[in-house]
Amino acid sequence: MLEYNLVIFGSGGVGKSCLTMQFVRNVFMEKYDPTIEDVYRKTIEVDEKQYSLEILDTAGTEGFSAMRDLYVKSGHGFCLVYSVTSQATFNDLTEFKERINRVKDTSMNIPLILVGNKTDLVDERVVAKETGQLLAQKWGCTFLETSAKARANVNEVTEEDLFATIKH
Ligand code: GDP
Ligand code: MG
Repeated sequence: MLEYNLVIFGSGGVGKSCLTMQFVRNVFMEKYDPTIEDVYRKTIEVDEKQYSLEILDTAGTEGFSAMRDLYVKSGHGFCLVYSVTSQATFNDLTEFKERINRVKDTSMNIPLILVGNKTDLVDERVVAKETGQLLAQKWGCTFLETSAKARANVNEVTEEDLFATIKH
């Protein structure tokens, strides 16, 4: 079975673990230990073929650990997550993007998906959908808005857009 590594980055509290749990286990966890960085595995089927996805749910923003560097190096695709309720988490993504470029050490197009999470918090939204779209355009990557809580678009994050991106 073909294996693909996927790395989830984003500032603390944007919902990386909740998105991962939704995707891997189909549950919404209201509270998830913010310090846990772990790898999850899920088999998915695309075009009648099975693929094994290894998902690294990162935690903490202070520098890359050696283990994380290895994952980034072997990462086939990256998910950069922000919360639509926080401008700062959106701004933080530029640094993650630069770090990925540095570790991958390539100018080639790195498969990337930009995810704006927590769309269920309609009244608390400060980052417009168009703002996310513009950044995705600049980076030449896929863009999705999700809600890990309402499970909106959670499957699409990987099974459609991201996976299609990784495969190329
Ligand atoms: P991480 O630090 O990026 O892994 O963030 P977590 O996945 O631990 O989520 C941080 C907090 O945001 C938790 O209290 C979650 O319940 C909450 N959360 C995550 N995703 C959503 C979402 O889509 N909607 C809402 N309303 N809350 C969310
Ligand atoms: Mg987490």
